[in-house]
Amino acid sequence: MTEMQTQEFGNLVLDKKIVAALTDMGFEEPSPIQSQAIPLALEGKDVIGQAQTGTGKTAAFGIPIIQGLSERGKQVEALIMSPTRELAVQVAEEVSNIGKTKHVRVLPVYGGQPIERQIKSLKRGVQIVIGTPGRLLDHIRRGTIHLDHVRYLVLDEADEMLDMGFIDDMEEIMKNIPSERQTMLFSATMPLPILSLTKKYMRAPKLVTVSKEELTVPLIEQYYFETRDKVEGLSRLLDAEIDGRLIIFCRTKKGVDNLASALQSRGYSAEGLHGDLSQNQRDRVMKKFRDGSLDILIATDVAARGLDIDNVNFVINYDIPQDPESYVHRIGRTGRAGNSGVAMTFITPREFRQLKLIERVAKTKIKRRELPSVGDVLERQREQIVGRMETLLDMGNYHDYMPIVATLSKEYEVEDVAAAALKMMQEGAAALETPKENKGSSMENTGGRPGMVRFFVNIGRSQRITVPELVRTIAIEADIPARSVGLINIYDKFTFVEIPEEYAERVLGAMQHNTIRGHRINMEPAKAR
Ligand code: AMP
Repeated sequence: MTEMQTQEFGNLVLDKKIVAALTDMGFEEPSPIQSQAIPLALEGKDVIGQAQTGTGKTAAFGIPIIQGLSERGKQVEALIMSPTRELAVQVAEEVSNIGKTKHVRVLPVYGGQPIERQIKSLKRGVQIVIGTPGRLLDHIRRGTIHLDHVRYLVLDEADEMLDMGFIDDMEEIMKNIPSERQTMLFSATMPLPILSLTKKYMRAPKLVTVSKEELTVPLIEQYYFETRDKVEGLSRLLDAEIDGRLIIFCRTKKGVDNLASALQSRGYSAEGLHGDLSQNQRDRVMKKFRDGSLDILIATDVAARGLDIDNVNFVINYDIPQDPESYVHRIGRTGRAGNSGVAMTFITPREFRQLKLIERVAKTKIKRRELPSVGDVLERQREQIVGRMETLLDMGNYHDYMPIVATLSKEYEVEDVAAAALKMMQEGAAALETPKENKGSSMENTGGRPGMVRFFVNIGRSQRITVPELVRTIAIEADIPARSVGLINIYDKFTFVEIPEEYAERVLGAMQHNTIRGHRINMEPAKAR
């Protein structure tokens, strides 16, 4: 037998081949339950893990089992009991991904699938069987599964198996497995019948749980959405209500990359941040996020650690955090320094328990919400058009277009003309935009006092902007002396601000598409009237 080469994966020392598989799966470091359970399991200890879907529990038992399997074995060496067909398939996929580089053979067996097919596969030889108790017993009774080489037994989601009335079947199966074995049991809760199973069938088991510390949750709004189509759900949120700086958390590097391309291809300004990027690339992404030229940052927990980013308005957990600490840490990125913040978490139906655990341990309330409807998205678009129109009307610099309206209104109602013009604008007609002069010359005639360039900024009193705040923001963002900022006139929906000519380009560069109080800024040289 060849000597196993090892490699570190966080605090774990694992078979190099397994680390390669984990890296390929996009894992950056062990989840908390993995950090605790795997060393014990590798020592051969029986382990009770208080954990559910979403914590990484499958790999917590999958990794040590795969590390301990014989190369190219054909006997069943590990048996995993699972409450449902859905979970059995999911576990089989995860385990076979982890075992890919070791060519481990994995088979899920569950009711509802023709038993003959399973028998054939079992005959061909598999090392890990994941089965629902009923179907496993069926195979045992038919003599189509041989369990005398089983060295690892896992009871996955034991409390669910209990709830589904499988307790007797579970015991019956355990009687057919050699007592010289390692047993691991994972369960979200520990009801009495499960505890007595652990007493009867496990040897000096070690208990691992996550989350004991007191957690302080920031006082921000917290919601969750249950959906199977997360990309679509996220797009709706982006279109209907999210306005401001957003960080999205994904579980893996792969997840970050996939989501970044999905959002980019839908036209959003989004970029990913994870451990595979060079320091330069990371700095570049962070700079864009800080200066407001990037709206959406997608990150893994690892990548986001140590990042000092203030005034994030929204945090979205695209994947549910693996433990309550991580939830609190992630959502703590928003609502800082007196800013408001909203945290939203996407879950699949299976992850509901993990959500409840987070709520309980973090002593917080995460309210259920429905995703915005298509109607909500349209409503938002309408509001945005109304807002832009109001600004335009208040400013009154559309007189070049009056002759067109005059001509059209001879034949059409003015309301129809206005609606048609809006449609044309939405379809991207250039005609409604005053042709832009190039930057250099447009800075020249802005109505500012001598030596100053007067800028138009699209936020005003309605956004609760104040003179000191504006001065401070401009001074900090463009790195110019605060006292150099000239006259400021704040109106309801817009503001004029004077900047010395020497700083004008710099201020424009720093402030354009930046945000103040979460509002995205549009800044342009004003027109002299
Ligand atoms: P589980 O709790 O086992 O159902 O796992 C939930 C999800 O977390 C699965 O999609 C796993 O692939 C993923 N996962 C497990 N461990 C890790 C890890 N260390 N890093 C990132 N993702 C993980």
